[in-house]
Amino acid sequence: MRYSQLFGKTKKTAPADADSPNARFLTQGGFVDRLAAGIYQYLPLGFRVLEKIKKIIQEEMNAIGGQQILMPVLNPVEIWKQTGRDETIDDVLYRTEGAGGHEFVLAPSHEEPLMVLAQQIINSYKDLPYAPYHIQLKFRNEARAKAGVLRGREFMMKDMYSYHVDDEDFQKFYEQSKVAYFNVFKRCGLEAYMIEASGGAFSDNISHEFVVKTMSGEDTMLLCEKCSFAQNLEIAEARIEAPKGADEEEKPLEKIDAVREPDIKASADLHVVPEWKVLKSVIYKVNGGLLGVCIRGDLKVDTKRLEQNLKEKIRGATAEDLKEAGLVPGFISPIGAQIPFIADHSIKYVKNFSTGANELHKDYKNANLGRDFQVKEFLHLADLPLTCPNDGGALTEERVIEVGNIFTLGTKYTEAFDVKFTDKDGKQKYPTMGCYGIGVTRLVGTVVEASHDEKGIIWPESVAPFQVHLLTLGNDDDARAQADKLYKELQTDGVEVLYDDRDESTGKKLNDADLIGIPLRVIVSKKSLEKGGVEVKARTEKESNVISVDELEKLIIKQ
Ligand code: ATP
Ligand code: MG
Repeated sequence: MRYSQLFGKTKKTAPADADSPNARFLTQGGFVDRLAAGIYQYLPLGFRVLEKIKKIIQEEMNAIGGQQILMPVLNPVEIWKQTGRDETIDDVLYRTEGAGGHEFVLAPSHEEPLMVLAQQIINSYKDLPYAPYHIQLKFRNEARAKAGVLRGREFMMKDMYSYHVDDEDFQKFYEQSKVAYFNVFKRCGLEAYMIEASGGAFSDNISHEFVVKTMSGEDTMLLCEKCSFAQNLEIAEARIEAPKGADEEEKPLEKIDAVREPDIKASADLHVVPEWKVLKSVIYKVNGGLLGVCIRGDLKVDTKRLEQNLKEKIRGATAEDLKEAGLVPGFISPIGAQIPFIADHSIKYVKNFSTGANELHKDYKNANLGRDFQVKEFLHLADLPLTCPNDGGALTEERVIEVGNIFTLGTKYTEAFDVKFTDKDGKQKYPTMGCYGIGVTRLVGTVVEASHDEKGIIWPESVAPFQVHLLTLGNDDDARAQADKLYKELQTDGVEVLYDDRDESTGKKLNDADLIGIPLRVIVSKKSLEKGGVEVKARTEKESNVISVDELEKLIIKQ
């Protein structure tokens, strides 16, 4: 490809809203263009990278028995009603009305349309296992599209689904999928970690995430310093002993007068209980709204952890915020409060808490989780170090981005769509399922996040848009003629070459080459010809050297 003719060139400066290396370099380098928040167009350079990543994924999925299909983006809402997901994930669904008032959703994932196929295709144990997959756009009304192509509202995903006669067969495939996933990420030049994501070993709902370390990631990975344990902070639980006597019989809830100072110690004194038996409620302002956090009275909320978990910036609620929400400082309680609450794991192990009653000088005695108040979610929020559940080793925290995940689905979807097969014993059974996602467009951005320097991208060869960036420098006719010739020869040899044939300054051309980040830069100039050939430099290296055209061809073909 002659750069002079390329549709979409480098930009002088990065867009002001580029919030991450991938947003900056992909846009400035002419790979993608942002149409609106979370919506990107792919230009020829970006499209070539995307296609290479897709090919790697296809090869690895096919290798474990995946069969590629293509499902539509536009889905009749009825199939989403069948699983209830039109309501449970309503917040991310884009809906649209078609002719005759028919309602559609733009698919945010594709379990539902696939189940319609499965109803027709799966009949007998002889049909199974199946592992259809597709690579398709997804649409999600993400509250916050951010970090370039890492979190889009329209993005491309590879999603595979597998159907099995029983758990044993599913487990076998689940293990194979892990290997295939590691292969995909390795071939994209990424070091991926597989981490426990939800459920855990003793749950029915096992899932694993594949993550890559990057500053622009939104997740936090916990890594044991001693063993291979790796977990998402979201499901981490500080292993603190429940205090002695914490697990007693639940007593009836009582509201009492409580003329006391508005703090934990005063509450513990009044109720004549240890501080751990007082339910502490701390209120934060998050994303424009208020959020309550419950924690044991003797522990502190670690606000950094809270931010890491929520993936949002937070601040403490002001007296005015509390007043508006009808909350009384020092007497706050999740019981009857009009704002959502989450909690630290520590409160799960204590019965009969003392807590405020959302009125001045009124408290509750014997408040119990589940019976008297609910919380939306349990997280590790306490100001306590985390330790490895296997060996007690210290856990380090790393910022990561999730590039893929694999899930145990069991019979949730086959039951919802009544997909059954006749087993060997003649009985009708529900196939057991797994699903396996990879963020294809997210991977484009992740490679950039993982592999760049201050000048631009450093593409791994496997996914680089071109293998060779050929440049002519200076206005020398002979050099240009030699470069033209080399360009043709390399193409004949099947080498992917981007040829910067523009009449631009040396500085501009070299800067562009660094920004675009093709693995091998080859310069043909008067100077290089005088030295007997072409000047070559790998994008990963600082020094260049001059070699003959013959040597160059050997070098490239060997690659
Ligand atoms: P996340 O926690 O990042 O929102 P998710 O759990 O919603 O991800 P899935 O629905 O399982 O993810 O999607 C499978 C894969 O698709 C993810 O592992 C991720 O790589 C990618 N992905 C998910 N949401 C987005 C998005 N908004 N933009 C780009 N890629 C995404
Ligand atoms: Mg999501």
